[in-house]
Amino acid sequence: MKLDFLKRKKWVKLELSNQAWTSGGGQSPTAHVAQTPAVTTNAGGAQSPTGKSDAGVSLSPTKNPPGPDEVACPGCGTLHSKQGWARNLRVCPACGKHGRITSVERVAQILDLETFSPIAQEVTSKNPLKFPDYQEKLDKASLQSEAGDAVLTGTGRIHNIPAALFIMEPDFMMGSLGSAAGERITRLVETAIENRLPVIGFCASGGARMQEGILSLMQMAKTSAALGRLSSAGLPYIAVLTDPTTGGVTASYAMLGDVILAEPGALIGFAGQRVIEQTIRQSLPDGFQRAEFLVDKGFVDRIVHRTEMKAALEQLLKLHGFASVSVAAVTIESKGGDTHVS
Ligand SMILES: [Zn+2]
Repeated sequence: MKLDFLKRKKWVKLELSNQAWTSGGGQSPTAHVAQTPAVTTNAGGAQSPTGKSDAGVSLSPTKNPPGPDEVACPGCGTLHSKQGWARNLRVCPACGKHGRITSVERVAQILDLETFSPIAQEVTSKNPLKFPDYQEKLDKASLQSEAGDAVLTGTGRIHNIPAALFIMEPDFMMGSLGSAAGERITRLVETAIENRLPVIGFCASGGARMQEGILSLMQMAKTSAALGRLSSAGLPYIAVLTDPTTGGVTASYAMLGDVILAEPGALIGFAGQRVIEQTIRQSLPDGFQRAEFLVDKGFVDRIVHRTEMKAALEQLLKLHGFASVSVAAVTIESKGGDTHVS
């Protein structure tokens, strides 16, 4: 099951979505799944992966629109070849901007090759409130995203340490939290409890999904309760906040990590800056709601560069007593159930 998941996907449709480079970085997902990511295992230092300019990367910011084989940095506009952009894990050599990546790409960057085994993929979004045009949006999003919903859940190994992961999918309605996403995360956490696994969650979300109304808001309590049971079982939960982590996700499981990491420059907040300014009638400081600001204020424990993330997670898991195991020793019972969610 694990490899089939990565092989049977609709790459043609993904290629279509790549045309809209401004929506999420416009990159070629196929390049990432096929190749081993250039993730370093060096745990020390914040060495830039981009210290050297590889061929195909122009370090001069430009106003020109990207060509068919180019990607414009969402931070500074510098044009990169698609290959160079993928090689750099979608981190800009010129400005350090961490571009958005899909859940499947994240799996390739974080987990050992071919160790990912999805959980609860059969749980997908419905339209319980008969919200106008919602079903059409779901259909379109499912074509643009590999995850099948706003979060990809499963187990895998990080340098041979077994772990349960959920990875939010910005390409699926901006990672908004609906009933299906909440159910997937809950089943993942229950699987982790049954198998004594740590949970790592990559958050990227615009918040709760308005088309599901109160059912969407209920997922905040449901996932939080599941994480409470994980904590009671003595198992750690590491939250990784990526750009953007906002709304109901910030108000629930994104902020419940025993350890909270963040990618550089990530937007992290509940309400938007403009809404807050209009409410309190004060202007907010520079860098408000950015990862660096939140580290300074104590909401985030540490900022980790994308190239260092796998090593940092390995280090944290070992600190919490989880050790590498042989492949033969890994048997994980996934949490089942019907596809009805509420
Ligand atoms: Zn840039």
